[in-house]
Amino acid sequence: MEGIKNHQSSIVNRKLVVLGAGESGVGTAILGKQKGYKVFVSDKGIIAEKYKKVLLSNDILFEEGNHTEAKIMTADLVMKSPGIPDKAAMIKQLKSHGIPVISEIEFASKFTDGLIVGITGSNGKTTTTMLVNHILKKANLNVGMGGNIGESFAQQVAESKFDIHVLELSSFQLDGIVEFAPHIAIITNITPDHLDRYDYMFENYIHSKFRIAENQTENDFLIYDADDEVITKWLQNNKTKACLLPFSIEKELEQGVFLKKDNIIIKYKTEDTLMNISTLALKGKHNLKNAMGASMATSLLKVRKDTIRESLEDFEGAEHRLEFVLKVNGVQYINDSKATNVNATFYALDSVKKPTVWIVGGVDKGNDYLDLMPFVREKVKAIICLGLDNQKIIQTFGNVVDLIIETAGAEEAVKVAHKIAEKGDTVLLSPACASFDLFENYEDRGNKFKEAVRRL
Ligand code: ADP
Repeated sequence: MEGIKNHQSSIVNRKLVVLGAGESGVGTAILGKQKGYKVFVSDKGIIAEKYKKVLLSNDILFEEGNHTEAKIMTADLVMKSPGIPDKAAMIKQLKSHGIPVISEIEFASKFTDGLIVGITGSNGKTTTTMLVNHILKKANLNVGMGGNIGESFAQQVAESKFDIHVLELSSFQLDGIVEFAPHIAIITNITPDHLDRYDYMFENYIHSKFRIAENQTENDFLIYDADDEVITKWLQNNKTKACLLPFSIEKELEQGVFLKKDNIIIKYKTEDTLMNISTLALKGKHNLKNAMGASMATSLLKVRKDTIRESLEDFEGAEHRLEFVLKVNGVQYINDSKATNVNATFYALDSVKKPTVWIVGGVDKGNDYLDLMPFVREKVKAIICLGLDNQKIIQTFGNVVDLIIETAGAEEAVKVAHKIAEKGDTVLLSPACASFDLFENYEDRGNKFKEAVRRL
Protein backbone atom coordinates (compact mmCIF):
# COMPACT_ATOMS: atom_id res chain seq x y z
CA MET A 1 0.00 0.00 0.00
CA GLU A 2 1.80 3.04 -1.19
CA GLY A 3 2.49 5.57 1.58
CA ILE A 4 -0.96 6.77 2.64
CA LYS A 5 0.65 8.75 5.42
CA ASN A 6 2.33 11.10 2.98
CA HIS A 7 -0.65 11.46 0.72
CA GLN A 8 -3.40 12.41 3.11
CA SER A 9 -4.83 14.93 0.67
CA SER A 10 -5.38 12.14 -1.85
CA ILE A 11 -7.37 10.12 0.68
CA VAL A 12 -10.49 12.26 0.37
CA ASN A 13 -13.25 10.30 -1.33
CA ARG A 14 -11.20 7.14 -1.51
CA LYS A 15 -13.30 4.16 -0.55
CA LEU A 16 -12.35 2.11 2.47
CA VAL A 17 -14.28 -1.10 3.01
CA VAL A 18 -14.01 -2.70 6.44
CA LEU A 19 -14.80 -6.42 6.59
CA GLY A 20 -15.91 -7.54 10.04
CA ALA A 21 -17.38 -5.17 12.62
CA GLY A 22 -15.60 -6.23 15.81
CA GLU A 23 -13.11 -4.25 17.89
CA SER A 24 -10.55 -3.80 15.13
CA GLY A 25 -13.07 -3.24 12.33
CA VAL A 26 -15.01 -0.56 14.15
CA GLY A 27 -11.78 1.14 15.27
CA THR A 28 -10.57 1.21 11.67
CA ALA A 29 -13.88 2.61 10.46
CA ILE A 30 -13.67 5.47 12.97
CA LEU A 31 -10.07 6.26 12.09
CA GLY A 32 -10.73 5.94 8.35
CA LYS A 33 -13.65 8.33 8.51
CA GLN A 34 -11.67 10.81 10.57
CA LYS A 35 -8.92 10.78 7.94
CA GLY A 36 -11.31 11.44 5.05
CA TYR A 37 -12.08 8.00 3.62
CA LYS A 38 -15.57 7.07 2.46
CA VAL A 39 -16.12 4.15 4.78
CA PHE A 40 -18.40 1.13 4.39
CA VAL A 41 -18.47 -1.66 6.98
CA SER A 42 -19.69 -5.14 6.02
CA ASP A 43 -20.16 -8.05 8.39
CA LYS A 44 -21.47 -11.44 7.30
CA GLY A 45 -22.74 -12.14 10.81
CA ILE A 46 -24.79 -10.05 13.20
CA ILE A 47 -23.00 -7.00 14.59
CA ALA A 48 -22.92 -6.68 18.38
CA GLU A 49 -25.19 -3.91 19.72
CA LYS A 50 -22.34 -1.93 21.26
CA TYR A 51 -20.53 -1.73 17.91
CA LYS A 52 -23.73 -0.91 16.01
CA LYS A 53 -24.26 2.05 18.31
CA VAL A 54 -20.74 3.32 17.68
CA LEU A 55 -21.16 3.02 13.90
CA LEU A 56 -24.51 4.81 13.99
CA SER A 57 -23.27 7.60 16.22
CA ASN A 58 -20.31 8.14 13.89
CA ASP A 59 -22.52 8.16 10.77
CA ILE A 60 -20.69 5.20 9.28
CA LEU A 61 -22.57 3.12 6.69
CA PHE A 62 -22.74 -0.58 7.41
CA GLU A 63 -24.47 -3.84 6.55
CA GLU A 64 -24.83 -7.10 8.51
CA GLY A 65 -25.76 -10.69 7.70
CA ASN A 66 -24.38 -10.32 4.20
CA HIS A 67 -21.43 -9.10 2.12
CA THR A 68 -22.79 -7.08 -0.81
CA GLU A 69 -20.22 -7.95 -3.40
CA ALA A 70 -20.97 -5.12 -5.81
CA LYS A 71 -20.32 -2.56 -3.09
CA ILE A 72 -17.24 -4.24 -1.66
CA MET A 73 -15.55 -4.66 -5.02
CA THR A 74 -15.55 -0.88 -5.58
CA ALA A 75 -13.13 -0.40 -2.66
CA ASP A 76 -9.77 1.32 -3.07
CA LEU A 77 -8.60 -0.30 0.13
CA VAL A 78 -9.98 -3.12 2.29
CA MET A 79 -9.31 -3.74 5.95
CA LYS A 80 -9.95 -7.34 6.94
CA SER A 81 -10.65 -8.33 10.53
CA PRO A 82 -8.22 -10.90 11.92
CA GLY A 83 -11.02 -13.45 12.31
CA ILE A 84 -11.58 -13.69 8.55
CA PRO A 85 -9.20 -16.21 6.97
CA ASP A 86 -7.27 -15.42 3.79
CA LYS A 87 -9.01 -18.36 2.21
CA ALA A 88 -12.47 -16.75 2.45
CA ALA A 89 -14.01 -16.39 -1.02
CA MET A 90 -14.43 -12.63 -0.72
CA ILE A 91 -10.77 -12.10 0.19
CA LYS A 92 -9.58 -14.22 -2.72
CA GLN A 93 -11.78 -12.26 -5.09
CA LEU A 94 -10.55 -8.90 -3.82
CA LYS A 95 -6.97 -9.97 -4.18
CA SER A 96 -7.52 -11.30 -7.70
CA HIS A 97 -8.83 -7.84 -8.62
CA GLY A 98 -5.70 -6.25 -7.21
CA ILE A 99 -7.53 -4.50 -4.37
CA PRO A 100 -5.18 -4.20 -1.37
CA VAL A 101 -6.38 -6.09 1.71
CA ILE A 102 -4.62 -5.09 4.93
CA SER A 103 -5.01 -5.48 8.68
CA GLU A 104 -6.05 -2.88 11.20
CA ILE A 105 -2.49 -2.76 12.54
CA GLU A 106 -1.10 -1.82 9.14
CA PHE A 107 -3.77 0.82 8.60
CA ALA A 108 -3.53 2.46 12.01
CA SER A 109 0.27 2.56 12.03
CA LYS A 110 0.20 4.95 9.06
CA PHE A 111 -1.51 7.60 11.13
CA THR A 112 0.64 7.78 14.24
CA ASP A 113 4.11 9.09 14.90
CA GLY A 114 4.14 7.32 18.26
CA LEU A 115 6.84 4.78 18.96
CA ILE A 116 5.55 1.21 18.76
CA VAL A 117 6.39 -1.69 21.05
CA GLY A 118 4.84 -4.81 19.47
CA ILE A 119 4.48 -8.03 21.42
CA THR A 120 3.68 -11.42 19.93
CA GLY A 121 4.21 -15.10 20.79
CA SER A 122 2.15 -18.20 21.49
CA ASN A 123 1.82 -17.57 25.24
CA GLY A 124 2.56 -14.61 27.46
CA LYS A 125 1.52 -11.83 25.10
CA THR A 126 -1.08 -10.30 27.40
CA THR A 127 1.05 -10.58 30.52
CA THR A 128 4.12 -9.08 28.82
CA THR A 129 2.08 -6.30 27.22
CA MET A 130 0.58 -5.40 30.58
CA LEU A 131 3.99 -5.48 32.22
CA VAL A 132 5.52 -3.15 29.64
CA ASN A 133 2.56 -0.80 29.95
CA HIS A 134 2.75 -0.84 33.75
CA ILE A 135 6.46 -0.01 33.77
CA LEU A 136 6.11 2.81 31.21
CA LYS A 137 3.17 4.29 33.11
CA LYS A 138 5.17 4.24 36.33
CA ALA A 139 7.92 6.08 34.48
CA ASN A 140 5.33 8.78 33.70
CA LEU A 141 5.50 8.26 29.96
CA ASN A 142 2.51 9.03 27.73
CA VAL A 143 1.66 5.45 26.80
CA GLY A 144 -1.38 3.65 25.39
CA MET A 145 -1.95 -0.11 25.47
CA GLY A 146 -4.03 -1.87 22.82
CA GLY A 147 -4.17 -4.24 19.87
CA ASN A 148 -5.32 -7.71 20.77
CA ILE A 149 -5.97 -6.48 24.30
CA GLY A 150 -8.59 -3.89 25.26
CA GLU A 151 -9.12 -1.08 22.80
CA SER A 152 -8.08 -1.47 19.15
CA PHE A 153 -4.92 0.26 17.98
CA ALA A 154 -6.93 2.13 15.32
CA GLN A 155 -9.37 3.58 17.83
CA GLN A 156 -6.48 4.60 20.03
CA VAL A 157 -4.85 6.45 17.14
CA ALA A 158 -8.16 8.12 16.28
CA GLU A 159 -8.96 9.29 19.78
CA SER A 160 -5.70 9.87 21.63
CA LYS A 161 -2.21 11.06 20.96
CA PHE A 162 0.25 8.76 22.66
CA ASP A 163 4.04 8.98 22.47
CA ILE A 164 4.29 5.20 22.84
CA HIS A 165 1.87 2.45 21.78
CA VAL A 166 2.28 -0.92 23.48
CA LEU A 167 0.53 -3.44 21.25
CA GLU A 168 -0.33 -7.06 21.81
CA LEU A 169 -0.27 -8.68 18.36
CA SER A 170 -1.73 -12.04 17.37
CA SER A 171 -0.39 -13.92 14.37
CA PHE A 172 -3.66 -13.16 12.56
CA GLN A 173 -3.08 -9.45 13.02
CA LEU A 174 0.47 -9.79 11.73
CA ASP A 175 -0.70 -11.73 8.68
CA GLY A 176 -2.24 -8.60 7.20
CA ILE A 177 0.73 -6.23 7.48
CA VAL A 178 2.68 -4.72 4.60
CA GLU A 179 5.04 -2.09 5.98
CA PHE A 180 4.27 -2.19 9.71
CA ALA A 181 7.47 -2.15 11.75
CA PRO A 182 7.57 -1.80 15.53
CA HIS A 183 10.67 -0.05 16.88
CA ILE A 184 10.79 -2.68 19.61
CA ALA A 185 9.42 -6.17 18.98
CA ILE A 186 9.11 -8.98 21.52
CA ILE A 187 8.51 -12.63 20.59
CA THR A 188 7.75 -14.36 23.88
CA ASN A 189 7.91 -17.94 22.55
CA ILE A 190 6.60 -20.06 19.67
CA THR A 191 4.77 -23.34 20.25
CA PRO A 192 2.15 -24.96 18.00
CA ASP A 193 -1.23 -23.20 18.20
CA HIS A 194 -4.01 -22.20 15.78
CA LEU A 195 -2.59 -24.61 13.22
CA ASP A 196 -6.01 -24.98 11.59
CA ARG A 197 -5.49 -21.47 10.16
CA TYR A 198 -2.04 -22.38 8.82
CA ASP A 199 -2.77 -25.50 6.75
CA TYR A 200 -1.55 -27.55 9.73
CA MET A 201 1.99 -26.40 8.91
CA PHE A 202 3.91 -25.24 11.98
CA GLU A 203 6.37 -23.50 9.61
CA ASN A 204 3.63 -21.20 8.36
CA TYR A 205 2.67 -20.22 11.89
CA ILE A 206 6.33 -19.53 12.81
CA HIS A 207 6.71 -17.40 9.71
CA SER A 208 3.60 -15.47 10.67
CA LYS A 209 4.97 -14.65 14.14
CA PHE A 210 8.27 -13.48 12.67
CA ARG A 211 6.47 -11.02 10.42
CA ILE A 212 6.72 -8.72 13.45
CA ALA A 213 10.42 -8.31 12.53
CA GLU A 214 10.13 -8.36 8.76
CA ASN A 215 10.12 -4.59 8.20
CA GLN A 216 12.38 -3.67 11.10
CA THR A 217 15.63 -1.85 10.29
CA GLU A 218 19.07 -1.73 11.93
CA ASN A 219 17.72 0.96 14.25
CA ASP A 220 15.08 -1.34 15.69
CA PHE A 221 15.21 -4.10 18.31
CA LEU A 222 14.00 -7.68 18.43
CA ILE A 223 13.72 -9.19 21.92
CA TYR A 224 13.09 -12.95 22.16
CA ASP A 225 13.45 -16.08 24.28
CA ALA A 226 16.90 -17.55 23.62
CA ASP A 227 15.85 -20.80 25.35
CA ASP A 228 13.17 -21.37 22.71
CA GLU A 229 14.63 -23.61 20.00
CA VAL A 230 11.96 -22.81 17.47
CA ILE A 231 12.93 -19.14 17.66
CA THR A 232 16.70 -19.63 17.69
CA LYS A 233 16.59 -22.06 14.76
CA TRP A 234 14.50 -19.70 12.72
CA LEU A 235 16.95 -16.88 13.42
CA GLN A 236 19.88 -19.05 12.34
CA ASN A 237 18.24 -19.76 9.00
CA ASN A 238 16.64 -16.42 8.23
CA LYS A 239 17.81 -12.82 8.04
CA THR A 240 16.57 -10.01 10.28
CA LYS A 241 17.94 -6.50 10.38
CA ALA A 242 17.01 -5.49 13.92
CA CYS A 243 19.46 -5.54 16.81
CA LEU A 244 18.90 -8.91 18.52
CA LEU A 245 18.38 -8.83 22.28
CA PRO A 246 17.61 -12.29 23.64
CA PHE A 247 16.70 -13.29 27.18
CA SER A 248 17.49 -16.58 28.88
CA ILE A 249 16.94 -18.29 32.20
CA GLU A 250 19.39 -21.05 31.29
CA LYS A 251 22.59 -19.33 30.20
CA GLU A 252 24.57 -16.13 30.33
CA LEU A 253 24.45 -14.08 27.14
CA GLU A 254 26.83 -11.71 25.39
CA GLN A 255 23.99 -9.25 25.14
CA GLY A 256 20.43 -9.25 26.48
CA VAL A 257 18.86 -10.35 29.78
CA PHE A 258 19.98 -13.34 31.85
CA LEU A 259 20.50 -14.61 35.40
CA LYS A 260 23.54 -14.54 37.65
CA LYS A 261 22.92 -16.20 41.00
CA ASP A 262 19.19 -15.46 40.94
CA ASN A 263 19.75 -11.84 39.94
CA ILE A 264 18.35 -10.50 36.69
CA ILE A 265 21.12 -8.90 34.64
CA ILE A 266 20.47 -6.52 31.75
CA LYS A 267 23.39 -6.23 29.36
CA TYR A 268 23.22 -3.81 26.48
CA LYS A 269 26.06 -1.33 26.17
CA THR A 270 26.42 -1.49 29.96
CA GLU A 271 25.85 -4.40 32.32
CA ASP A 272 23.44 -3.76 35.21
CA THR A 273 21.90 -5.85 37.95
CA LEU A 274 18.18 -5.23 37.90
CA MET A 275 16.86 -7.23 40.86
CA ASN A 276 16.70 -10.56 42.64
CA ILE A 277 14.07 -12.89 41.23
CA SER A 278 12.64 -13.55 44.70
CA THR A 279 10.91 -10.15 44.78
CA LEU A 280 9.13 -10.48 41.42
CA ALA A 281 5.38 -10.14 41.93
CA LEU A 282 4.47 -12.80 39.36
CA LYS A 283 5.48 -16.35 40.10
CA GLY A 284 6.63 -19.11 37.75
CA LYS A 285 9.47 -19.47 35.25
CA HIS A 286 7.25 -18.30 32.42
CA ASN A 287 6.56 -15.04 34.24
CA LEU A 288 10.26 -14.59 34.91
CA LYS A 289 10.74 -14.76 31.14
CA ASN A 290 7.90 -12.27 30.60
CA ALA A 291 9.53 -9.95 33.15
CA MET A 292 12.87 -10.24 31.34
CA GLY A 293 11.32 -9.33 27.98
CA ALA A 294 9.48 -6.39 29.50
CA SER A 295 12.52 -5.08 31.36
CA MET A 296 14.68 -5.22 28.22
CA ALA A 297 12.07 -3.30 26.22
CA THR A 298 11.57 -0.62 28.84
CA SER A 299 15.25 -0.29 29.53
CA LEU A 300 15.73 0.49 25.80
CA LEU A 301 13.21 3.27 26.33
CA LYS A 302 15.51 4.68 29.01
CA VAL A 303 13.35 3.84 32.01
CA ARG A 304 15.46 3.82 35.16
CA LYS A 305 16.32 0.40 36.58
CA ASP A 306 14.77 1.36 39.93
CA THR A 307 11.46 2.11 38.26
CA ILE A 308 11.52 -1.18 36.34
CA ARG A 309 12.29 -3.09 39.53
CA GLU A 310 9.53 -1.39 41.54
CA SER A 311 7.05 -2.06 38.74
CA LEU A 312 7.93 -5.73 38.56
CA GLU A 313 7.50 -5.93 42.32
CA ASP A 314 4.06 -4.37 42.53
CA PHE A 315 2.49 -5.64 39.28
CA GLU A 316 -0.87 -7.18 40.06
CA GLY A 317 -1.13 -9.69 37.25
CA ALA A 318 -3.81 -10.36 34.72
CA GLU A 319 -7.05 -12.12 35.56
CA HIS A 320 -7.33 -15.83 34.67
CA ARG A 321 -3.55 -16.23 34.31
CA LEU A 322 -2.19 -18.17 37.25
CA GLU A 323 -4.44 -16.04 39.41
CA PHE A 324 -4.45 -16.79 43.14
CA VAL A 325 -8.12 -16.92 44.07
CA LEU A 326 -8.51 -17.88 47.71
CA LYS A 327 -7.21 -20.17 50.43
CA VAL A 328 -9.97 -22.38 51.85
CA ASN A 329 -9.12 -24.64 54.80
CA GLY A 330 -5.43 -24.29 53.99
CA VAL A 331 -5.95 -25.24 50.31
CA GLN A 332 -4.81 -22.68 47.70
CA TYR A 333 -7.13 -22.34 44.66
CA ILE A 334 -5.51 -21.04 41.46
CA ASN A 335 -7.39 -19.92 38.34
CA ASP A 336 -5.36 -20.39 35.14
CA SER A 337 -8.37 -20.62 32.82
CA LYS A 338 -6.45 -18.78 30.08
CA ALA A 339 -4.19 -21.82 29.72
CA THR A 340 -5.79 -23.08 26.52
CA ASN A 341 -2.82 -25.09 25.30
CA VAL A 342 -0.33 -27.59 26.74
CA ASN A 343 2.58 -25.17 26.87
CA ALA A 344 0.74 -22.72 29.14
CA THR A 345 -0.28 -25.56 31.44
CA PHE A 346 3.30 -26.84 31.44
CA TYR A 347 4.41 -23.63 33.17
CA ALA A 348 1.46 -23.67 35.55
CA LEU A 349 2.27 -27.20 36.70
CA ASP A 350 5.94 -26.28 36.88
CA SER A 351 5.17 -23.34 39.15
CA VAL A 352 3.06 -25.18 41.77
CA LYS A 353 5.15 -26.47 44.60
CA LYS A 354 2.53 -28.41 46.59
CA PRO A 355 0.59 -31.65 46.00
CA THR A 356 -1.95 -30.63 43.39
CA VAL A 357 -5.50 -31.41 42.40
CA TRP A 358 -5.47 -30.53 38.73
CA ILE A 359 -8.63 -29.49 36.86
CA VAL A 360 -8.08 -30.03 33.13
CA GLY A 361 -9.98 -30.53 29.87
CA GLY A 362 -12.29 -28.90 27.35
CA VAL A 363 -11.86 -28.63 23.61
CA ASP A 364 -8.50 -30.08 22.70
CA LYS A 365 -6.70 -28.49 19.71
CA GLY A 366 -4.64 -31.61 19.00
CA ASN A 367 -2.91 -31.78 22.39
CA ASP A 368 0.04 -34.00 23.18
CA TYR A 369 -0.09 -34.32 26.96
CA LEU A 370 3.15 -36.27 27.31
CA ASP A 371 5.20 -33.13 27.97
CA LEU A 372 3.29 -32.77 31.22
CA MET A 373 4.00 -36.30 32.44
CA PRO A 374 7.01 -35.52 34.70
CA PHE A 375 5.03 -32.88 36.62
CA VAL A 376 1.99 -35.11 36.87
CA ARG A 377 4.07 -37.96 38.29
CA GLU A 378 5.77 -35.62 40.73
CA LYS A 379 2.92 -33.56 42.16
CA VAL A 380 -0.55 -34.31 40.83
CA LYS A 381 -2.52 -36.35 43.34
CA ALA A 382 -5.84 -36.23 41.50
CA ILE A 383 -7.17 -35.14 38.12
CA ILE A 384 -10.59 -33.61 37.70
CA CYS A 385 -11.70 -33.58 34.07
CA LEU A 386 -13.79 -30.59 33.05
CA GLY A 387 -14.85 -31.25 29.47
CA LEU A 388 -17.35 -33.17 27.37
CA ASP A 389 -14.83 -35.59 25.93
CA ASN A 390 -12.11 -36.59 28.40
CA GLN A 391 -10.91 -39.81 26.80
CA LYS A 392 -7.43 -38.61 25.87
CA ILE A 393 -6.72 -37.31 29.36
CA ILE A 394 -7.95 -40.51 30.96
CA GLN A 395 -5.91 -42.63 28.54
CA THR A 396 -2.74 -40.61 29.06
CA PHE A 397 -2.79 -40.33 32.83
CA GLY A 398 -4.95 -43.31 33.86
CA ASN A 399 -1.95 -45.38 34.88
CA VAL A 400 -0.12 -42.55 36.61
CA VAL A 401 -2.73 -40.83 38.77
CA ASP A 402 -4.86 -42.90 41.13
CA LEU A 403 -7.86 -40.65 41.09
CA ILE A 404 -9.42 -39.30 37.87
CA ILE A 405 -12.93 -37.91 38.08
CA GLU A 406 -15.08 -36.54 35.25
CA THR A 407 -17.22 -33.45 35.88
CA ALA A 408 -19.39 -31.31 33.62
CA GLY A 409 -19.36 -27.90 35.26
CA ALA A 410 -17.17 -25.54 37.30
CA GLU A 411 -19.31 -25.82 40.42
CA GLU A 412 -19.16 -29.62 40.39
CA ALA A 413 -15.41 -29.61 39.68
CA VAL A 414 -14.73 -27.26 42.60
CA LYS A 415 -16.90 -29.28 44.98
CA VAL A 416 -15.09 -32.49 44.07
CA ALA A 417 -11.70 -30.75 44.42
CA HIS A 418 -12.74 -29.46 47.83
CA LYS A 419 -13.50 -33.02 48.96
CA ILE A 420 -10.21 -34.42 47.75
CA ALA A 421 -7.74 -31.67 48.64
CA GLU A 422 -6.12 -31.61 52.07
CA LYS A 423 -4.52 -28.78 54.02
CA GLY A 424 -1.36 -27.63 52.23
CA ASP A 425 -2.52 -28.78 48.77
CA THR A 426 -3.16 -26.66 45.70
CA VAL A 427 -6.22 -26.86 43.45
CA LEU A 428 -5.20 -25.70 39.99
CA LEU A 429 -7.58 -24.97 37.12
CA SER A 430 -5.25 -25.05 34.11
CA PRO A 431 -7.27 -26.74 31.37
CA ALA A 432 -4.76 -26.92 28.44
CA CYS A 433 -7.86 -26.74 26.29
CA ALA A 434 -10.33 -24.25 24.86
CA SER A 435 -13.55 -23.78 26.80
CA PHE A 436 -16.30 -23.79 24.18
CA ASP A 437 -17.82 -27.19 25.03
CA LEU A 438 -19.07 -26.14 28.45
CA PHE A 439 -18.50 -22.37 28.66
CA GLU A 440 -18.88 -19.21 26.58
CA ASN A 441 -15.15 -18.51 26.67
CA TYR A 442 -12.16 -18.77 28.99
CA GLU A 443 -13.28 -15.75 31.03
CA ASP A 444 -16.65 -17.39 31.69
CA ARG A 445 -14.87 -20.61 32.75
CA GLY A 446 -12.52 -18.71 35.08
CA ASN A 447 -15.32 -16.61 36.58
CA LYS A 448 -17.52 -19.63 37.25
CA PHE A 449 -14.56 -21.37 38.89
CA LYS A 450 -13.86 -18.37 41.11
CA GLU A 451 -17.52 -17.98 42.07
CA ALA A 452 -17.68 -21.65 43.03
CA VAL A 453 -14.52 -21.32 45.14
CA ARG A 454 -15.94 -18.28 46.93
CA ARG A 455 -19.11 -20.24 47.72
CA LEU A 456 -17.23 -23.09 49.43
P1 ADP B 1 -1.44 -14.78 25.58
O1 ADP B 1 -1.96 -13.38 25.55
O2 ADP B 1 -0.30 -14.99 24.64
O3 ADP B 1 -2.51 -15.83 25.47
P2 ADP B 1 -1.29 -14.67 28.49
O4 ADP B 1 -0.38 -13.74 29.16
O5 ADP B 1 -2.75 -14.34 28.44
O6 ADP B 1 -0.76 -14.97 27.03
O7 ADP B 1 -1.13 -16.12 29.17
C1 ADP B 1 -1.82 -17.25 28.62
C2 ADP B 1 -1.50 -18.50 29.41
O8 ADP B 1 -0.11 -18.82 29.23
C3 ADP B 1 -1.70 -18.39 30.92
O9 ADP B 1 -2.11 -19.65 31.36
C4 ADP B 1 -0.32 -18.01 31.44
O10 ADP B 1 -0.12 -18.44 32.78
C5 ADP B 1 0.60 -18.77 30.46
N1 ADP B 1 1.84 -18.03 30.16
C6 ADP B 1 2.10 -16.72 30.39
N2 ADP B 1 3.33 -16.40 29.97
C7 ADP B 1 3.87 -17.52 29.43
C8 ADP B 1 5.13 -17.83 28.83
N3 ADP B 1 6.10 -16.92 28.68
N4 ADP B 1 5.32 -19.11 28.42
C9 ADP B 1 4.36 -20.05 28.56
N5 ADP B 1 3.17 -19.82 29.13
C10 ADP B 1 2.91 -18.57 29.56
